[in-house]
Amino acid sequence: MANAPPAPAADGPSVVDIAANLARVRAEVQAAARAAGRAADEITLIAVSKGHPASRIEAALAAGHRVFGENRVQEACEKWPALRAAWPDAALHFIGALQTNKARDAVAVADAIHAIDRLKLAAALAREMERQDRRPACFIQVNTGAEPQKAGVLPAGLDALVTECRHALMLPVSGLMCIPPATEDPAPHFALLRELAARHGLGHLSMGMSADYRGAIAAGATHVRVGTAIFGPRPAP
Ligand SMILES: *Cc1c(COP(=O)(O)O)cnc(C)c1O
Repeated sequence: MANAPPAPAADGPSVVDIAANLARVRAEVQAAARAAGRAADEITLIAVSKGHPASRIEAALAAGHRVFGENRVQEACEKWPALRAAWPDAALHFIGALQTNKARDAVAVADAIHAIDRLKLAAALAREMERQDRRPACFIQVNTGAEPQKAGVLPAGLDALVTECRHALMLPVSGLMCIPPATEDPAPHFALLRELAARHGLGHLSMGMSADYRGAIAAGATHVRVGTAIFGPRPAP
């Protein structure tokens, strides 16, 4: 049969599925940008590959995608050196909670770090950037819903953290990141993040996941972090 689709891989969506998913999500990013009167190239689609094997990431790379997200340092360090060697223009955004003692590996493996939320971590990252002479873009995570179990600096603590990061630590802070409470309308959280970023003259807004990236783009997101809609459900860890 001439045009038979490849059989799905036993471990999940086939190569074709990932390429098709990427094409669909890219089209939706473009449509959401257009509807908001924005240029689609203002928006970076981070394909969140946490929990998925390198073979899935390679399918996305082969489909032309270059920007990925991981949330665990150890997993990133296991998967990414080989991928980067094969695809030198791939970029990795670290989007997860980071322990201070993982700052060295995070700076070594990542091109951007999205979850800076406390001075001690910021200081450890600044030290490593100096030592390694590598400067991943930095995003400060804001706990916009003030959820006790969630990472992120509270909105009231943001001014002080931004000032310390910029002026004492000279961290390359480029934007803010948030994960709205799962059970609430995300729109007010996106609006708050945008307002906080504007107040500090920060141009980048990392917000929006599979369920809400369109709304995030309407609210000004420059970086959307989309996993499930591209790679399918994550295998149980
Ligand atoms: C896992 C994760 C995502 C992607 O979530 P999906 O719902 O699979 O799109 C985005 N941001 C962060 C911080 C994550 O940990």
